[in-house]
Amino acid sequence: MNKIQVLDQVTIDKIAAGEVIERPASVVKELAENAIDAGATSVTIEIKEGGISYIRIADNGCGIAREEVPSAFLRHSTSKIRSVDDLVHIGSLGFRGEALSSIAAVSQVELVTKTKADTFGTSYRIAGGKEESLDDAGAPDGTTFLIRQLFYNTPARRKFLKTPMTEASHVGELVTRLALSHPEISFQFINNGQSKIHTSGNGNLKDVIYHVYGREIAANLLAVDYERTGMKITGYLGKPLISRGNRNFENYFINGRYVKSNMIAKAIEDAYKDFTMQHKYPFVVLQMEIDGEHIDVNVHPTKMELRFNNQQDVYSSVYEAVDRGLHAEELIPHVEIPK
Ligand code: ADP
Ligand code: MG
Repeated sequence: MNKIQVLDQVTIDKIAAGEVIERPASVVKELAENAIDAGATSVTIEIKEGGISYIRIADNGCGIAREEVPSAFLRHSTSKIRSVDDLVHIGSLGFRGEALSSIAAVSQVELVTKTKADTFGTSYRIAGGKEESLDDAGAPDGTTFLIRQLFYNTPARRKFLKTPMTEASHVGELVTRLALSHPEISFQFINNGQSKIHTSGNGNLKDVIYHVYGREIAANLLAVDYERTGMKITGYLGKPLISRGNRNFENYFINGRYVKSNMIAKAIEDAYKDFTMQHKYPFVVLQMEIDGEHIDVNVHPTKMELRFNNQQDVYSSVYEAVDRGLHAEELIPHVEIPK
């Protein structure tokens, strides 16, 4: 009864997968972030049935060399850091080396990838953590992942998935945030054969906002351009008249990463306080660049939560950036144009 045993790798990976992979949108997040890290300029995300039965993510990034494909699926295998010291200067979205092993533990994965240096591409299949095949494949430079039957071998998890429509809307929100955080990358999102989002990748954040949120919002923006030592904040603030009934339109990114922070939300809302009615939340898209030594991204497996060394500094910078942005229009002297 009390015999203590180390779990086998497949079981370990299945359990660990639960921390990173909660639903189809988490698969899309991990794979799209890998595409971004791979230097892709174009990422196509296609789902069917909310992503539960089918997710396809194709990028034109650097690809994975044939001999490295199987090791990419090992737990804690990464090309992005070598030691914890690298975390301070982390320039990539990934670094924990957990996504591919987690996804492969709870779904059926097909990968086709090719680097510039390889003449042939590689096709690789792995399902439920078990390698099935590795072959030559004709393929363009880049990587395409096909994920089928998420949680097919973990029914308890599958049971917690919502309807395909709800899951698809989570994926849509995620792609929106990816597109906003990387205007220089063209993102396409296809749901059940229908193209829902397709950004140009021309680098213009306002164009992305126009594309995903529409004309009314894009026509009512104020620019933010703020800098102080160790911190830079750029992006757009919605004029108070387009404030919304919930926080879904508060988008802020730190070093290209979508994050959630009560402190940042409070700084934004405090700065808007004189402008918005109670229970209304502003529309914002803010890109913050903060020196690596001031933040710790390695707090949680999904990396959505951060730890700041100096909360007060970040709070006051965000507050100031938003406050100045909101007042900028009044600062322009009003000139009567003679008839
Ligand atoms: P991490 O992103 O934390 O390094 P992952 O499990 O997500 O860990 O990926 C493991 C490794 O596989 C990455 O470090 C990278 O070298 C490689 N990889 C994964 N996806 C791609 C991709 N789309 N293009 C190129 N390389 C990739
Ligand atoms: Mg990754």
